[in-house]
Amino acid sequence: MRSLDTPAATGIPLKYDKERVNLNKVHINTDLVNRKSGTRPAGEGRLKKYEGTCSTDTHAPTTPHPMDGCPQYWEVENRVYLDKPLTENGFLILEVGVCREEQRDVSHDIGGRPYSYCMSVVHCTTHGGICREIWRVGKYVLCLLDTLPNTAGTSHTLHYGVVYDDARKKIVFIDVKEKKVMSTLDNVDCSEPLWPMFGVYNPGDVTVSMRFVVGSDINMAEEKTAMIVMALS
Ligand SMILES: [Zn+2]
Repeated sequence: MRSLDTPAATGIPLKYDKERVNLNKVHINTDLVNRKSGTRPAGEGRLKKYEGTCSTDTHAPTTPHPMDGCPQYWEVENRVYLDKPLTENGFLILEVGVCREEQRDVSHDIGGRPYSYCMSVVHCTTHGGICREIWRVGKYVLCLLDTLPNTAGTSHTLHYGVVYDDARKKIVFIDVKEKKVMSTLDNVDCSEPLWPMFGVYNPGDVTVSMRFVVGSDINMAEEKTAMIVMALS
């Protein structure tokens, strides 16, 4: 069994891509926030439809992360505040995932896109609440209920991990607070690089800030490592 490599372990300085972030919809202070930027620095190459950003590797900004056959792991820690109870089906709060380069800016999200794999936090009328939905190449896979109460006025922390293993062609979504694997996606098409993506949505109704946690900032408790290793086996 190979060990799990976090970006720090492999020396890869992954971070939010501030050059590509869609400033018409979101901005980055340290976190990715679902409010448009007050200033609009000029710059070609920004995402125009996707409501968020991708990651960048400062040593190799044109590649999403190394394709070295080692599992990569990153986390997002989200603060979510509902300004009002949500009613609409499919109403997006946030998403994390990966997709091919050409899919990054086709839509406001990647959930419905080919060559994408993601987990979205959405209001879901099927289950009458806020669900964590897993999507694979544009197709719905499953819902996990009881994400947070659909009530206004309280702040919640949602903490998720993503494992990307191009050697085993697997992506694993983890609920860090629940210490559970939400879903393991097999037979991932890794024939082209997949970019980590980060989306935050709907500023009129929710306030979302997403912190991208990599490397030594990740608390790699033994039980978490064991859970990931088992999900990849
Ligand atoms: Zn649901």
